[in-house]
Amino acid sequence: MSEQRPRPRLAVFKFASCDGCQLQLLNLEHQLLELAERFEIVQFLEATSRVEPGPYDVALVEGSITTAHDIERIRRIREDARTLIAIGACATSGGIQHLRNRADIEDWKRGVYPHPEWIDTLATSTPLSEHVRVDHSLEGCPVDSGQVLRVLTRALLGATPDLPGASVCLECKRLGNVCVVVTAGLPCMGPVTRGGCGALCPSLGRDCYACFGPHEDPNPEAWARALGDRGLTPREVATRFRGINGQRPEFRRVADALEGDGD
Ligand code: SF4
Ligand code: SF4
Repeated sequence: MSEQRPRPRLAVFKFASCDGCQLQLLNLEHQLLELAERFEIVQFLEATSRVEPGPYDVALVEGSITTAHDIERIRRIREDARTLIAIGACATSGGIQHLRNRADIEDWKRGVYPHPEWIDTLATSTPLSEHVRVDHSLEGCPVDSGQVLRVLTRALLGATPDLPGASVCLECKRLGNVCVVVTAGLPCMGPVTRGGCGALCPSLGRDCYACFGPHEDPNPEAWARALGDRGLTPREVATRFRGINGQRPEFRRVADALEGDGD
């Protein structure tokens, strides 16, 4: 009888984040059980107390880098992982916590914590890619469960993930949605945002808030002008771009220009 091949070792790690992207993995439910048959899940603290050292075939990493210890830890994970996949906006662009990057960290600490002297943190929240090589990035806040499943399935086959690069508008139109910009005057960010969410917000009559970050060829300056033409003040337009993915260069340059603090 032939020996069974060992299953690829999968580990899930967390840095500064809300755990929502890991929850999307748990939300796979019965498909997660199938994944557990295909992969050996050696670390995933939201699901199991099992903690094993590397090497790992695939490391899914949630969260941004906010402490000196984080930097050491992500470097070790990179050394141990054959394929490292950043999951979610915290990991791919620093997350909403990147807002601290434009503020005085000591002020924030004093404002938030009763004992700021106990807090040992960097002044910035940065994406994984500023510290280590990232093989693939799954966008979103949170990521889309189906995309996680597809990327892991392709990893099993040794294939490159086929992640969407076009805008949310494309998904929105394919679904036959009525555009909320045209019909309700909402400041939808779909024209500059990467698809992959299934146009979730516009499908519910809400404006997209760019949680999947910029698409592969956005024109944020043109969309900022269009939002201004629809009555938003420069500050309001900047705020649209400063959201969860506001640290992405394509969005940041527009917001900085509108607020007059380009760097
Ligand atoms: S990307 Fe969003 S959902 Fe995912 S961990 Fe960060 S804040 Fe939570
Ligand atoms: S609702 Fe938003 S995502 Fe949909 S077509 Fe209009 S601008 Fe694009």
